[in-house]
Amino acid sequence: MQSGKYVRTEAMRRRRSEAMKGKNLSDEHKRKISKALKGRRHSDEHIRNASQARRDSVGWPGGPDHPNWRGGIYKDVGKKEYEKTYRQRPENKIKHNTQSRAYYQRLKIDVLSHYSLNGVPECVNPFGEHKDPYTNLDALSIDHIHGDGAKHKREIGKSGGGAIYQWLKKQEYPEGFQTLCMNCQCIKRMKNREVRK
Ligand SMILES: [Zn+2]
Repeated sequence: MQSGKYVRTEAMRRRRSEAMKGKNLSDEHKRKISKALKGRRHSDEHIRNASQARRDSVGWPGGPDHPNWRGGIYKDVGKKEYEKTYRQRPENKIKHNTQSRAYYQRLKIDVLSHYSLNGVPECVNPFGEHKDPYTNLDALSIDHIHGDGAKHKREIGKSGGGAIYQWLKKQEYPEGFQTLCMNCQCIKRMKNREVRK
């Protein structure tokens, strides 16, 4: 067999073309060609050229001549639509929920740690209520030291658990907040009520 690079000349191309006219490739031959081409990657240039050739070919439905042409915005519109419906699909809903739960949990740990005394999420125990550090994440939350929680919530225009953590992190942990357990929250509320009387 001849070695070296196989170069098709125009004459060879024509001869081959003439010889093949009216003939069909056998199934086995087609299989062999298919096998030889499998896994082959087209160069970026080839892909661009092929794409352009498709566009230029008769019957390509897109482009300014199409009755539905909206000035080349289709790509963006399609993307927005895609993102809007992406999370609504059941398989993604589960994935998204798990991801956001994990994110929320990390965020909560970060923020609560910051407003604790020892760098881990625990109640700052302002009334000496418990001897041992209280560390159960489910019963820890952020307390507004000066008791203007509702007002503050209105100010940042958000409610719900995650918003305050997100806000605090974004504001780079301003002062005036502390980590409290539910128990100490209740005691604080009672004490504040007594002060007001
Ligand atoms: Zn506590």
